Amino acid sequence: MGKIFELIADQALEKLDEYYDECHICEDTDVDLYSYQGVLTLPDGTTDDDIYAACATCIGLKPLRHTGEQDYIRAIKNT
Ligand SMILES: [Zn+2]
Repeated sequence: MGKIFELIADQALEKLDEYYDECHICEDTDVDLYSYQGVLTLPDGTTDDDIYAACATCIGLKPLRHTGEQDYIRAIKNT
């Protein structure tokens, strides 16, 4: 369906613009960011629960656990 996320039409994505300017996970600033409220498991086993915006790459690849209400993100993680 979508080009960015397989299960989501691109036009249904909630893309963030000015409010956040970097991915909270990889800290990349030159990427499209999406609203993602969740917990990231770090390599040392601790967690970072201060995640509010992430790029598509991190949402797809990083060990994130979703804590918000955006069920479409959960659908992605379960694929
Ligand atoms: Zn990222």
